Order: sequence, then structure tokens, then C-alpha cells
Amino acid sequence: MQYRRFGKTELPLSVFSLGTMRSLASVEAMAAVVQAGFSGGINHFETARAYGQSEALLGQAIAQLQLPREQIYLTTKLLPTASGADIRQQLDQSLERLGVDYLDCLALHGINTSDHWQRLRSPQGCLAALEQAREEGLFRHLGFSTHGPRELIWEVVNSDRFTFVNLHYYYFFQRHAPVIARAAELDMGIFIISPVDKGGQLYTPPAELVEQCAPLTPLDFNYRFLLSDPRISTLSLGAAVPSDLEAALAIADQTAPLSKIEQNIDHKLNQAQTVNLASDQCSQCYQCLPCPEAINIPEILRLRNMTVAHGMTEFGQYRYRMFENAGHWFPGRRGDRCTDCGDCLPRCPEQLDIPNLLRDSHKRIKGQNRRRLWED
Ligand code: SF4
Ligand code: SF4
Repeated sequence: MQYRRFGKTELPLSVFSLGTMRSLASVEAMAAVVQAGFSGGINHFETARAYGQSEALLGQAIAQLQLPREQIYLTTKLLPTASGADIRQQLDQSLERLGVDYLDCLALHGINTSDHWQRLRSPQGCLAALEQAREEGLFRHLGFSTHGPRELIWEVVNSDRFTFVNLHYYYFFQRHAPVIARAAELDMGIFIISPVDKGGQLYTPPAELVEQCAPLTPLDFNYRFLLSDPRISTLSLGAAVPSDLEAALAIADQTAPLSKIEQNIDHKLNQAQTVNLASDQCSQCYQCLPCPEAINIPEILRLRNMTVAHGMTEFGQYRYRMFENAGHWFPGRRGDRCTDCGDCLPRCPEQLDIPNLLRDSHKRIKGQNRRRLWED
């Protein structure tokens, strides 16, 4: 296991952090995963108030295993609240559930809209209350997680109110690359959320993608893409059982720059996009927005890119059914809402036939309708 400085927090975090939203069956299940992670060198454990019993089970597991408090780092996340008093009460409860008198890191969970950001930083908002709680020693470092648009993340990162950021950024989603660069410039800790699941459901890759990533697995290639970037501090790793940690622990020492073989995989994946998508490739420039029907054109076409170029239909279906089902956690409407108004067409530098591509995407990845349980 390698360790990296978590930006200006100065915490020496393991390059994998154990996210504890999947091991919720019992204290024993949580303890087994925590023990396996700790034995494998993981020193950072992450939970959230919104993850059901996760905080309480993690607290009980740590007590049961008698993990030395000074050798581990604990983070929880709290949803933004309407008032400072509410979030303070939640923080007190989280500390009690975790059985600790301070947290190393606390993140505001989901600064997803400008409205959130405006309300939480008002003088009566929850940000001031958290800053007060930090002064009192209830936690040491304040960060935020986000599913928001890049412009919003940029603004929050630049606000100087947070010392770390929990971000979606993977091989197959590099839109936030400028945010990574800026956060690194500001010496913030950078924690990557869900690189395996949201990064492409890489634990169950389609045959086409397996072939394109050979001799690595798609999972390992994505890990290497992230681990080879020294600006990224740590990657979240969710596990229901200890064996779910194996692939990550096996690669946790490999933080060197991408090898020739790995660079060649990157080249093969790009080639697959060029060949399989031909003139239908969306370059993810986002210039087509806004759409009067609030269709999330770039994200739908990203899912189409992945489906057509790499055979990632199941992942496309998994994400596509989030539209109109997950509020601000996954904004925008589905492709079949297009009215052919044509507003987006002159803005697309690739001159894509967006309405037809949206209809095609809908056909390919609409799948079955299911409601989401929880995002992130
Ligand atoms: S053509 Fe369709 S996708 Fe484009 S702006 Fe109009 S409704 Fe939105
Ligand atoms: S403007 Fe065109 S290339 Fe850019 S994101 Fe929209 S559809 Fe894709």
C-alpha cells in the first residue's frame, strides 16, 4: 500500500480508502471488511449519515477490532441542512454513532446546485456552524462531495472554505480534469468517489472492453490511470465482503507513471472510439447546452459513446435510468424528450445530428425502469 499526503490537511492517507456503504449486513460483516482493509494497509475509512447504519456499524467494528484511533483516519459526510443548529445536531449524533470524540475529516455531502451553495454559505447556513464546530475540535478538516456541474465545483473549490474535495473523475469521465488541476494547485486533498461502479461498473466488464484493455483488466487499467496521477490522493473502495478488496489491494503499490503497455491500452481505447463511433462521436464539450427541454445531452451521448465504442450497454442502462429519478444527484431529462427544436444544432462543433443520436441512445440504453436506492 502506498500513502499520499491528503493535500494541505497533511494527513498521510492510503491510496485506497474504505467506503463503508456496502458492508451493512451486520457488525460482523463490517468488522470483517474493516479488518481486511486495515491489514492490507488502508488507514482511511469513510462513511456518511445517509448510508443507513454505516456510521454505527463502522463505530462498533472499530471498537470491536480495537483499532488504534491514532493509526486510522475517519471521514463522515453530512447532507447540507437548512440551519446551522440542524447540522450541529447531526454532527454530534455522527460522533456518538462512530464512538469517537473527533473526526479527521468531515464533508458536506452533495453540493450539487448553485442554490445549495448559496444557502449553505449564508450567515445562517450550515457552513458557518461547521466552521465553528471545527474550531471547537469536533473535526479537523472540512471538504465537500459533489455531483454538480463543473462550473459550480470550480466556484466551490476556489472559495477557500474547504481543504479537500470528493470528486467523480475516471478514465471514462475526465470532464473534471481542470478541477483536479485547480484543486491540486490550491493544495487540496483529492478523493475520487466510486471509481469502479460509477467509473463504468468495471467489476463486470463486457467482453469488448476486456479485449480492448488486455493485458490488464478494465478495473486495473482504470485504477492505474488514477493511481499514476500524483495529484490524486486517494480512491474510494466499497466492499461488501473482504474478497471485494483483493483487486485493489493487489495494485495499491503501483503508483508509477503509466507504462508503455498501459499507454498503448489508452491508445486502443481511443482507437475504438474513433472507429466504432466514426462521425457520431460526442467530444463532451458541453456547448450544446442549455436545452429548452432540460435534456442532459452530453451525459446521454457519453453513455452512448461508451455503449457503441466499448460495448458498455449495461452501464449505459444503469446510468440512463437515473435521469428523472434522482433529482439533483443526476440532473437532466431523458433523450426521448427531444422536440426537434434544433436549438442545440448550431452550437455543436462536431455537427452531430443530436436529436437522432438522442433517439438512438434512448433505444439502446433505456432498459427497464427502476428507481434508484441511493446515489454516491
Ligand atoms: S433539438 Fe432536442 S436536444 Fe436539441 S435543444 Fe431542442 S429539444 Fe433539446
Ligand atoms: S456540443 Fe456536440 S460534441 Fe459537444 S457535448 Fe454537445 S453533442 Fe457532444
